[in-house]
Amino acid sequence: MMDLKGMTALITGASRGIGRAIAIYLAELGAQVAVNYASSEEQAREVVEQIKNRGGRAMAIKADVANVRDVDSMFEQVLAEFGDLHILVNNAGINRDGLLIRMKQEDWDAVLETNLKGVYNCSKEAARIMIKKRRGKIINISSVVGVAGNAGQSNYAAAKAGIIGFSKAIARELAPRNIQVNVVAPGFITTDMTDKLPEAVKQDMLNRIPLGRYGKPQEVAYVVGFLASDKSQYITGQVIHVDGGMIM
Ligand code: NAD
Repeated sequence: MMDLKGMTALITGASRGIGRAIAIYLAELGAQVAVNYASSEEQAREVVEQIKNRGGRAMAIKADVANVRDVDSMFEQVLAEFGDLHILVNNAGINRDGLLIRMKQEDWDAVLETNLKGVYNCSKEAARIMIKKRRGKIINISSVVGVAGNAGQSNYAAAKAGIIGFSKAIARELAPRNIQVNVVAPGFITTDMTDKLPEAVKQDMLNRIPLGRYGKPQEVAYVVGFLASDKSQYITGQVIHVDGGMIM
């Protein structure tokens, strides 16, 4: 059995979708959980309530992961409330899709700031804490798009590919301190992010999934739970695809 009792986990962008499923699952495994959100306070509180109702410990923290001051304050709040941090899941992400020649600079910047710089900001703070304790797990949520590319998502693909290179670099830096860094690359998972895609795009995706269906947030959470646990102590610098076989 995987067991995260006594562990503290911070999950960014955990008010809904994949982040929400991860927060609830890690809490189910016994971790105390910090639920980060950018603006959806009510939804974040609902996640915290759900965890508490099941006997777990959780807190909601508002912070924009792209903003260093917000991130500093978020880590201070985690330490003040829970005293330690063992698991960081960088899940917060946005998309601003468009073909390259029409892509506005602000859409490029926004996606890179949140999806890539946000991962750097949070990983740096977490590593500072974990290095002292000589243990820790950093799990970064990338995407199949970061590996295979996707027309209309050059900004998103660049950020998600960037996460993979970044994770491999810090996996090497932090390995001597017994900190494991891994990437989970989901395929098409049913959430708010994918609900708003046009029907034709969804059908096209479905045709490319060998298992013949979209994934569920819970199916990503299971893998994150394993990577957060001590059952994965000998795994670092890896990209694990949760995509129904889209990428092989
Ligand atoms: P979602 O839009 O449902 O949730 C994203 C979460 O990130 C929200 O809670 C949002 O508040 C938060 N967020 C956005 N900007 C933030 C910021 N600056 N600071 C803090 N939090 C912020 O999306 P989702 O589908 O659950 O996606 C979660 C992650 O999984 C993202 O990184 C996404 O790129 C990735 N992903 C999703 C899919 C999919 O099919 N849904 C596929 C591959 C990868």
